Amino acid sequence: MRTVLILAVALLLLPFACAPTMLALASPLMLGLAGDSIVKEGAVAGLPGLPQGLERLYQTAANTCAGLDWTVLAAIHKIESDFGRSNLPGVKAGTNHAGAAGPMQFLISTWGGSARIKIGSRFNGYASDGDGDGWGDVYNTADALFAAAKYLCRHGAPRAVRQAVYAYNHSWDYVDSVLALAKTYADASELRPEQPRGDDRVTPRMRTARDLLLQRFRIPFGVGCYRQNDSVAGGGRGEHHLGRACDFMLSRGTKPSPGNQALGDAIAAWFQANAARLGVSYVIWKQRIWSPARAGEGWRTMSDRGGVTDNHFDHVHVTVL
Ligand SMILES: [Zn+2]
Repeated sequence: MRTVLILAVALLLLPFACAPTMLALASPLMLGLAGDSIVKEGAVAGLPGLPQGLERLYQTAANTCAGLDWTVLAAIHKIESDFGRSNLPGVKAGTNHAGAAGPMQFLISTWGGSARIKIGSRFNGYASDGDGDGWGDVYNTADALFAAAKYLCRHGAPRAVRQAVYAYNHSWDYVDSVLALAKTYADASELRPEQPRGDDRVTPRMRTARDLLLQRFRIPFGVGCYRQNDSVAGGGRGEHHLGRACDFMLSRGTKPSPGNQALGDAIAAWFQANAARLGVSYVIWKQRIWSPARAGEGWRTMSDRGGVTDNHFDHVHVTVL
């Protein structure tokens, strides 16, 4: 196997937006709902057997090969070394009988001639630095995943992903296993986008989230979901015109009363606590944004968009997937 280093970096942009101009009052649909059981459990709440915390690393590594599904890296990681947990020879140290090393089972020659290579030095291989320590370590999970993404990219991924996986391991059975497993990860992790339906022109997922919330909280100034005019202060459009966003109004254009501010806190907290099963994409409240994808960072402060409404002091905004 040969060299040539290709790096394609894709930036993940999170679009967000909101500025209510039209209010619709809580729909009577909420009456007579069956309750939480109507929400599909587990759609994004944890993948089958996938260790916590790895998903973001897969995504980051996959982003170096624009268009590569992170699930392919996850499937290879699982099949090669049970996510690095295998105690077989060559996973955590040394090499196996075939000369493969590390969680992604690179041949040392493919890696660059040594298990640990200073990045920036001259070498002929796929050694990569995924954890930013300046070294390409074949036993390091991040380094190995970045190298695997580079390898797959060099061999035709994402366009010819079957050929790329075949290049990784010359067996069509292997290719079929990897891609089948990748699909189960994708099916488990992805909530497919929905189209708006019904008189209120919101998606079923948004309707469910809204109505479950309305079973628990009385919204003093109404709820606004679909609106055609969905421009955002500073440019762009939000998801209200797609039927995937709602605003829960705690006042109108003025700072809410202390009681209603506390209510807004409780609403935002409820969406956070139920984000996985509801398919919440992000929540905005009091000029701060929170998303499950970056939950580790907590609430992130947003730039000043001007007024009370544009800065989300008078309403909680939620967007669902
Ligand atoms: Zn909004």
